[in-house]
Amino acid sequence: MRRVAIIGSGIAGIAVAIRLARMSFIVDVFEKASTPGGKVAEFQQQGFRFDMGPSLFTLPELVDELLDEEYQFSYDKLETITRYFYEDGTQINAFADIEKFAQELNSKVSIPRKRLLKHINKAAFIYRNTAPVFLFSSIHRIKDLWTFGNLKRLFALPGINALKSMHKTNEKVIGEEHLVQLFDRYATYNGSNPYRAPGTLNVISHLEHALGAYFPQNGMRTIINSLYEQAKKLGVKFHFNEEVCSVVSKKKHVKGVGTKGGFYSSNMVISDVDIYHFYSRLLPDSKKLRKLKKEERSTSALIFYWGVKRQFPELDLHNIFFSQNYREEFDFLFNKKQLSDDPTVYLFISSKQNESDAPSGCENWFVMVNAPENIGQDWSQLIEKTRQVVISKLNRMLGENIEQHILFEQILDPLQIEERTGSYHGALYGPSSNSRFSAFNRHPNFHRTIGGLYFVGGSVHPGGGIPLCLSSAKIVARIIQDKED
Ligand SMILES: Cc1cc2nc3c(=O)[nH]c(=O)nc-3n(C[C@H](O)[C@H](O)[C@H](O)COP(=O)(O)OP(=O)(O)OC[C@H]3O[C@@H](n4cnc5c(N)ncnc54)[C@H](O)[C@@H]3O)c2cc1C
Repeated sequence: MRRVAIIGSGIAGIAVAIRLARMSFIVDVFEKASTPGGKVAEFQQQGFRFDMGPSLFTLPELVDELLDEEYQFSYDKLETITRYFYEDGTQINAFADIEKFAQELNSKVSIPRKRLLKHINKAAFIYRNTAPVFLFSSIHRIKDLWTFGNLKRLFALPGINALKSMHKTNEKVIGEEHLVQLFDRYATYNGSNPYRAPGTLNVISHLEHALGAYFPQNGMRTIINSLYEQAKKLGVKFHFNEEVCSVVSKKKHVKGVGTKGGFYSSNMVISDVDIYHFYSRLLPDSKKLRKLKKEERSTSALIFYWGVKRQFPELDLHNIFFSQNYREEFDFLFNKKQLSDDPTVYLFISSKQNESDAPSGCENWFVMVNAPENIGQDWSQLIEKTRQVVISKLNRMLGENIEQHILFEQILDPLQIEERTGSYHGALYGPSSNSRFSAFNRHPNFHRTIGGLYFVGGSVHPGGGIPLCLSSAKIVARIIQDKED
């Protein structure tokens, strides 16, 4: 029988386990933690439930296609994608319905409908011409690249805004500062900087505004619970609390993995751990590490989870409280590697959608600011300072005294993200996409010289975030299938 060892049970690890189990492999997943899911974690306290990591769910079909009928779960399409608050008092509801959104923009910031449509249509054009190549294929196999469809796409290259930054592109097309900031924010969906990332990244807004933003009825963790149950049903064996220490290869082919518990022989190994962690600890390779070190990391996060003993009808599921100086905020994140004194605050309240996530009359607040990668900053000092800054900002913008409503608090910082999931420097999405060459620099989904060794997850091609991690699993399964045929 053909045997595969998967290292890590992040979402990509479980997804590829499901795909290979369906291809009749014997699948073992080794996970250093005691539960599956990696960054898609949750915790419960005093009757509250918190999703600790991802909160935005797009391209749900990539999950659906992995699940048999009995493991499917329900999710709602959001009517309001995000509610945006600005320091000058402006409030914008990003409605999923484009006509409604256009009306909102017209009444709040006097943007003509056609300007919004121009932006939305451009994002759709970029998606059509880049997604099949950069998101859903391996760009490291000639077979995937040289297709008739891709040849046609070459003609679209001048129109995908690869030479200008996202910010410059948005300024040119939209030209209104509130809306430019709103669309610039999509760079943060893969931890990048809109003032440097290419305009091509405007494709991200297409996922929400055209394809839809969703939320699972019992929270984000439902995604992992369903995938995990499905994998077990297919016979995948999970080894929890079993950290992989080495990948063993002989004559340029993998032989298995070594854990503290012993050696597990396999015909293939798939790594779902951070690629830097992989080459520093599991298969040491100083040349690869030198290259990876040169790549700029994506942002990390600092999150305060608050049990709040009041409800705020003026808030929605996803809320953004923008900073006044966005450029300066990114200068702090990527150049100074610090947190600015006025960070943009993301407030996610899953109990707005899923009432049982908080006791009656209460709300579960997930309050996040983007943070720089961990390079040894004094996090306790940064957390203390930022907590005050965030509370003052929310007090000011909501006209409330927030602190008096906080029942308890938990904190997640870049150090813990690194420690818990092995992400190099606590980066949420592996390397950043700040350069137009980032997509090409990401590690391929396979090893170029060791046979049977594959890579999935947020730090390799095509990138971080749930949809791309699921895509990496699909790409690897396809490559393996091709070899089998
Ligand atoms: C705070 C936060 C907010 C986010 N928000 C969003 C969002 O809204 N939408 C979105 O799409 N994405 C979001 N993301 C990103 C998304 O969570 C990740 O891209 C995705 O979950 C990464 O999955 P992965 O498969 O790469 O594995 P990871 O989740 O990184 O998991 C890797 C697993 O490997 C295990 N492991 C590590 N080393 C070893 C070893 N040596 N042996 C065995 N096991 C090991 C770890 O314990 C872990 O379980 C967010 C992430 C965070 C942290």
